Amino acid sequence: PPKISEAVQRARAAFLTGRTKSLKFRTMQLKALQRMIREKEQEISDALKLDIGRLALEELPKWTAPHAVEKTLLTVMDQVYIRSEPLGVVLIIGAWNYPVALILQPLIGAIAAGNAAVIKPSEVSAHTATLLELLLPLYLDRELYPVVNGGVPETQELLKQRFDHIFYTGNCTVGRLVMEAASRYLTPITLELGGKSPCYIDKNCDIHVACRRITWGKFVNCGQTCIAPDYVLCESSIQHQVVEEIRLTLQEFYGEDPKLSPDYGRMINKRHFHRVMALMEGTTVAVGGESDEESRYIAPTVLVNVAPHSRVMQEEIFGPVLPLVCVQSLDEAIDFINQREKPLALYIFSEKQKVINRMIRETSSGGVTVNDVLLHFTIESLPFGGVGQSGMGSYHGKHSFDQFSHRRGCLVKSLTMEGMNNVPLTNNFTDCIHC
Ligand code: NAD
Repeated sequence: PPKISEAVQRARAAFLTGRTKSLKFRTMQLKALQRMIREKEQEISDALKLDIGRLALEELPKWTAPHAVEKTLLTVMDQVYIRSEPLGVVLIIGAWNYPVALILQPLIGAIAAGNAAVIKPSEVSAHTATLLELLLPLYLDRELYPVVNGGVPETQELLKQRFDHIFYTGNCTVGRLVMEAASRYLTPITLELGGKSPCYIDKNCDIHVACRRITWGKFVNCGQTCIAPDYVLCESSIQHQVVEEIRLTLQEFYGEDPKLSPDYGRMINKRHFHRVMALMEGTTVAVGGESDEESRYIAPTVLVNVAPHSRVMQEEIFGPVLPLVCVQSLDEAIDFINQREKPLALYIFSEKQKVINRMIRETSSGGVTVNDVLLHFTIESLPFGGVGQSGMGSYHGKHSFDQFSHRRGCLVKSLTMEGMNNVPLTNNFTDCIHC
């Protein structure tokens, strides 16, 4: 559709005017975004947690300033520095599960780094998509940050356009399509994908506290959180205790019947409802298991003695179902994790530094939280992103700014001191290149 290519072209033309390059302009746009969040608090309560906007504002002058780097003997008289420059026009494609945050967080980075950004919210969260299309132009430069709404055809049309970076949040299948489309113009990409994030519980830890924290992170947003603990690995000797502690915590959080609790969510749509229900087939339910198709309700559910090769262990669950898989030792838990794709997050509950160190050292994952869940996501100084099949690139805080910037290496010499070039410096020169 012409509307899509026009929006991209307009954003590019606006970018080429150079107005995103001044610090003043970027600060102005970020402040406008902040104002939008403040004034529309009611409608976008999700985005209230976006303190990140303030961080970008406070730090921006420092981030955008050229950064002098170490010089060698040969360059001692010159200027040697790194400039963080905007990439150009970026595309941000969001997912439905945190529909505001997954658009606004990367957008903050894109604006801070001085880019134009075409925004594509998820059509699955249709109300938020409409709201963003309505609100963003009221606050931000209208040409630089267009919102394009629509489903698969619109996204595919967008992906045919030329961008200078694509930032995609969603599932691996579409991630591959994005990567394929990006290859046409050699466009760099950030893929924020998902996966099965393991949660290891050491038998000697405070299982009561561990299970309280796991219950919160697993069942918040009805399990539809990219970094939710997907499954638990523990020794069979503590499995019963884990089940009972989760059962008690569920009662504390959501009462006798979670269906009646205002704090317990629903599956986003029927497709995902049926997908998650199908994952439970042939498993042993210890807690929950009830469901109601009409209201897309699935009770917080715990599965026990789950076989490593069962269906529920083959794909990301992305719903309120927690399988417990028994292992015989820490070694087996580590092997279990390493035999699978690298997850987006890894959770370790243990009071033993040695166990924690081994788990971290001998496995790989996008991020790690020890003795809690989800919280590494909230630390702005930590890069957030996946590794391997859970994604590439990272963001949050300064990392968002870097993700949307080109770090340009600059050497500025003077035309004086030509005599230096007559000094036989060959050895020195090679040394300098190597250092
Ligand atoms: P989704 O269905 O909203 O899809 C995401 C985006 O892809 C949407 O904007 C949609 O329009 C687009 N899309 C869908 N099909 C397409 C196609 N065929 N061609 C082009 N574009 C297409 O979201 P989802 O994928 O169901 O999201 C859930 C997944 O996202 C989970 O795997 C979850 O772990 C992951 N996720 C990751 C993060 C993270 O930060 N790493 C955050 C949230 C969700």
